[in-house]
Amino acid sequence: MKLSNANTFLISLLALACLTCAMSVAVNAQEKEKAKTGAEALPGIDWSVDQLKNAVAPVRPGRVMLPEKWPNNARVAVVISFDVDNESYSLSTGVTAPGPLSDAEYGATEGLPRIIAMLDRFNVPATFFTPAVSAILAPEMVPQILKSGKNEVALHGWVHESVDVLNDGAQEERLLRQAVDYLTKVSGKKPVGSRTGSWAFSSYTISVDQKLGLTYDSSLMAMDVPYEIISNGKDTGIVELPVTWVADDGIYFGPTGALPSPKLIFQVFQDEFDMAYRERSFVMLTFHPNAERRSRFLYLEQLIAYMETKPGVWFATAEQVVNWIKSNPTTDSSFSRMPEQQ
Ligand SMILES: [Zn+2]
Repeated sequence: MKLSNANTFLISLLALACLTCAMSVAVNAQEKEKAKTGAEALPGIDWSVDQLKNAVAPVRPGRVMLPEKWPNNARVAVVISFDVDNESYSLSTGVTAPGPLSDAEYGATEGLPRIIAMLDRFNVPATFFTPAVSAILAPEMVPQILKSGKNEVALHGWVHESVDVLNDGAQEERLLRQAVDYLTKVSGKKPVGSRTGSWAFSSYTISVDQKLGLTYDSSLMAMDVPYEIISNGKDTGIVELPVTWVADDGIYFGPTGALPSPKLIFQVFQDEFDMAYRERSFVMLTFHPNAERRSRFLYLEQLIAYMETKPGVWFATAEQVVNWIKSNPTTDSSFSRMPEQQ
């Protein structure tokens, strides 16, 4: 087909636009490269003391919420938690490639059933932070988790959305509300706690949790022990059961399985427990059913067996820990880590 003059003109314009666009992309990339150095890359160096305080104020640790005693005078409370990410994480970012999805699906097909059977053998409870989409794609999971009557199902976003990337309060609330509704429907009980996808927080997360009537969060890392979350100087009424990347298998166990043996990683988890035991406090351990392949599961089983040999260990769900904290006196917890008091 012969091109008309008008079409030729249009094509030339488009070509020019593309060239201009490409040039501006190149210039932007150069500017970004430049912005990586110098004062421009370090905006905080010029913030006033008030600006620095305001930057940290939205989410801070308040009172320590460590009870004077755990049930039966236990030395330590242990929460074994599982983040049932499965395919949700990939789907939230638009990844639909069957390869990685099949690796994630392992959490439902093999990972979870093996874990549930092991918890039943040890008679130990656990909390399963479950994105609603993971439960929708494998509807057998929630009944499996709840069968023993000991485990807890808690929130882990709708589709493991990273709320810091989303950065939209209305969307964040809509998604978490959907997740609450779905998990309530399939579990018969409204979840009371939340762990955000990728343990990320937005500036809206606390108020969304409050609106949904949640009692605890388990995504933050400011202390080893439970604490009250304060926001801009005010108690939010939400207890933090802190996590740490150090005690999370997801950080160490990538899909390639490049480590020669997971043994050393589980030594880290055991050391975290040993210190909590020594300090008579609390430890939260986090595992992922889709990452707990056989060679890793073996050590998970050994870790739980080890903890069970110690006297005075209270294995509990996150909800049980929070209920205990809320209905029992806590240790002298007058300190706060707000900057003006340091
Ligand atoms: Zn997760």
